[in-house]
Amino acid sequence: TQPAKISLQVHPYGKKRKLMISRDVTAVQLAEAMRRDFVANVSHEIRTPLTVLSGFVETMQSIELEEADRMRYLGLMSQQAQRMQTLVSDLLTLSRLEGSPAPGAGEWIDSGELLTHVLQEAQGLSSAIADPPHVIEADPGAAFWVSGAKTELLSAMSNLLSNAVRYTPGGGRIHAGWHIRADGCGEFFVTDTGPGIAAEHLPRLTERFYRVDRSRSRETGGTGLGLAIVKHVAQRHGGQVEVDSTLGEGSTFRIVLPSSRVRARPRD
Ligand code: ADP
Repeated sequence: TQPAKISLQVHPYGKKRKLMISRDVTAVQLAEAMRRDFVANVSHEIRTPLTVLSGFVETMQSIELEEADRMRYLGLMSQQAQRMQTLVSDLLTLSRLEGSPAPGAGEWIDSGELLTHVLQEAQGLSSAIADPPHVIEADPGAAFWVSGAKTELLSAMSNLLSNAVRYTPGGGRIHAGWHIRADGCGEFFVTDTGPGIAAEHLPRLTERFYRVDRSRSRETGGTGLGLAIVKHVAQRHGGQVEVDSTLGEGSTFRIVLPSSRVRARPRD
């Protein structure tokens, strides 16, 4: 039989490259291709800030700068260093999530406590980067406990909130909370009034380094790894990530946990 062709689109440096692979390709070869693609992406993500950084160093070595310009250059250099730090930290988080066993039942954590923690962070981020800041509201939702790894859940929740803050224009509304669904699953949701995402991008959003708006992501310190981290955390807890979005209206991202990880508690 004719081997059917699978075409894999690779977008390493903004350029389109097409890789044709026949169906008899082994899983090992595919894994190797993904690994190479990942290394190429990481190298590119590190090279960009490094190039900018060394450009500034060379300029500062070759010309006398006014104090104000010197301070401005140092500020820009520190931004690039920060960008590399965030990237390395996200890469380490991902590799830890991929390499460690899924968390057991763990501790039972108050959903309200998780929410308060990440909302405070989001408010801080919004005041720092948006003018006017966003209107961030907590949904009172249900009072319940979720079980799992607290730091992982907090990191996934705060990734969704920080995306809402980073992609929604200042003054926009962000709404977040925990619910128990009719089928007993626990759901953390974040709704924003940002730009929304076109349907064709939705299936690829949780891929590592996939970005819809590359420049907006970079401007606001994005690494392209946030939703990959969220997906890993959800899956390690037996759950999944869902997204609904309408261009020009906004997006809702959800982390859904299985009912076995949810326990209702009476209101205080
Ligand atoms: P990044 O660090 O680039 O934000 P993510 O993995 O967190 O990476 O998100 C992937 C892409 O999905 C982003 O680059 C952005 O284009 C899009 N995106 C994520 N959240 C939102 C949102 N709330 N509104 C609009 N676009 C979003």
